Amino acid sequence: MATLEINNLHAEVAENGERILRGVDLEVNSGEIHALMGPNGSGKSTTAKVIAGHPAYEVTDGEITLHLDDEDLADVDEELEEEHYHWDLLDLEPNERAALGIFLAFQYPAEIEGVTMTNFLRQALNAKLEEREELFEDEDEAEAEKEEDEGYETSPMEGPADDGEIGVAEFQQILSEKMELLDMDESFAQRYLNAGFSGGEKKQNEVLQAAILEPSIAVLDEIDSGLDIDRLNDVAQGIERLRDEQGTGVLQITHYQRILDYVEPDRVHVMLDGEVVMDGDAELAEKLEEKGYDWVREQVYETA
Ligand code: ADP
Ligand code: MG
Repeated sequence: MATLEINNLHAEVAENGERILRGVDLEVNSGEIHALMGPNGSGKSTTAKVIAGHPAYEVTDGEITLHLDDEDLADVDEELEEEHYHWDLLDLEPNERAALGIFLAFQYPAEIEGVTMTNFLRQALNAKLEEREELFEDEDEAEAEKEEDEGYETSPMEGPADDGEIGVAEFQQILSEKMELLDMDESFAQRYLNAGFSGGEKKQNEVLQAAILEPSIAVLDEIDSGLDIDRLNDVAQGIERLRDEQGTGVLQITHYQRILDYVEPDRVHVMLDGEVVMDGDAELAEKLEEKGYDWVREQVYETA
């Protein structure tokens, strides 16, 4: 089981020093769905971006730690040391965090012309696997490999770069399985990345990305925004399958309670002004729906 542990996280906008996060505490285990809720501007997206390592923010205090166990590291060939089980994410680059099993979908994925979904997803998977290998291989090996690379890939005569660990045929197999898991139409994968995709289809793509990359923890920011009821239902079902079939832990960020009617969270956390001020179970989300964020404000600032 993997655990993402966030302690007393403080962060500001790198450019101007504006304080945004003022003590975020959260713990998400794989296999659990957590809802992170809060009014607009409370710092939910910033939390997601800081977890991913977005360069626009500077962390001024606190820790983000990813704890892994033998099961999470079953694919690693090298001999494992104590340090391989606990990672201080703030010391790592975004792609290294992803390689360890953190997934952050983009709120508005870019449209890239001429790249099919299939190609894009295969490249993303291969990039993750390669980075993961680099993270765990010992230093001598890394050094040797680097020298080898330098001898080769710098030549323009070498043709296209290395095609990666998972070839086209193997990837087709993986993709079919994941699309079946998510009840998605196969024709989807043949289309060009996000070109002409509806808002709902883009959101479904995010869930598909997460299914293929098999992260320990997926952070989904406002994946419910702008979805009609049918799509919302598909996306919600996809999220439950990530948890139930792949054991993914989901940190689902949402302003509205609506999606929580379709996917019941195991835990609910409420943010206000850059802090997590309340935690509870699914009932808390219902209470919020009924009483609104002003009620939270009253509760928190009256007892403070
Ligand atoms: P939420 O996702 O809960 O709506 P955000 O995390 O997007 O909130 O933003 C929290 C606050 O921080 C807002 O007041 C927003 O304007 C501010 N903020 C976030 N990112 C930046 C940034 N890069 N530059 C300036 N202000 C920012
Ligand atoms: Mg937001």
